[in-house]
Amino acid sequence: MTLKRLPDREAFVMDSLAAKMSEGRDGQHLTNAVYCNVKAFGAARLMAAGYEAPKPDPGSTLRMAIGVGLGDVIEQGHMHQMTVGSADDDSVGTIDILYKGKVVEIKCTWQSSNKSPDENAHWMEQTGGYAARWMKPDAKFVTAEFWVIHLGGDGGAMYCPAHGRPERKVHRLYEPTGKKRMICPECSEFLVPGNREPEVRCWEKTWPAEELRSLHKIQTERLAEIEADIKNPRYQIGGELPPIRHGFQRKFECNGCTIKERIGCPGIEGVDDLEAQLSGSILELQKEKATA
Ligand code: SF4
Ligand SMILES: [Zn+2]
Repeated sequence: MTLKRLPDREAFVMDSLAAKMSEGRDGQHLTNAVYCNVKAFGAARLMAAGYEAPKPDPGSTLRMAIGVGLGDVIEQGHMHQMTVGSADDDSVGTIDILYKGKVVEIKCTWQSSNKSPDENAHWMEQTGGYAARWMKPDAKFVTAEFWVIHLGGDGGAMYCPAHGRPERKVHRLYEPTGKKRMICPECSEFLVPGNREPEVRCWEKTWPAEELRSLHKIQTERLAEIEADIKNPRYQIGGELPPIRHGFQRKFECNGCTIKERIGCPGIEGVDDLEAQLSGSILELQKEKATA
C-alpha cells in the first residue's frame, strides 16, 4: 500500500476556490472603502497592466469558502451572495444572505467566541455599508445579523457554568492534587474549560438609519478617492504610492498583506493588535525554525 501527497491536486483545489471567491469582483467593491485604499489602488493598477489579480492568502480563501458554503446550506428559499449596487456610484457590495428581510453577514474566524462582533470595527463598517444600501429610504432603524463560525471555539477559556467568565483570577486548593485551581469569585466553584471545537454564534446589530446614511456617504467618498488615485499618473507601482487614507493597516492589514511586495509598499511597522502580533511572532518562529 502506498500513500502520497498530491501537491498538484491541492493547487487545483485552492485555485478553484480562489476563482470562485473572487467571482463578480470586477470594479469597485464596497470592501475597498473598508480595507486599505493603497491595496485597492495597487490591485486595480496591476490588473489594468495585465497582471493577474492578487489572490487572497490560502487561509482567508478557505475561511471565505466555509462562509459561502454555509450560505449555500442555509439558503433554502433565502437569497444569498446577492450583489447590491449604490444610488451614488457604480460600486457593488455582496450580501451573504438575506434572512427575514435582514442583511446577514457570515464570518468564519479564529477569534474566540467570547469576543463580541462589535470589537471588529471592520465587520461593522462592511455590514453597516451593505445594510445602508439595502434599507428602505424612510427607515428609522436598521437591523442586520452576524452569523459567526468560531473555528477554535473560545480557545478552551475557563468559565463558571452558572456565572460565566470571571473578571478576576481567584484560586482555591483542590484537595485531590494538593494544587490550586481557579474558582468562580461569585460561587467559589471550580471553573471548567471552555470549548476548542468550532461553534456558531449569531448576533443582531441595530443602527439608527441616520448613522448608516452617513457611513454610506463616507464610503462613497472613499471609493471616489480610490478612483481618482487610480487615474492619477503621479501615483505609480514601484514609485510614489497614494497616501494611506483609510483601512486597518496598523491593526492587522499590513502584517498579512499579499500585495505589498508586488506594488513596493513598505506598509506600517509595529501593528498594535495583540492577535496580529501573536500570529506575527508565530510566523517569525516558524521562519526561524525553517532556516535553522
Ligand atoms: S502593506 Fe499595508 S499600507 Fe501597504 S498595501 Fe498592504 S495593507 Fe496597505
Ligand atoms: Zn459561579
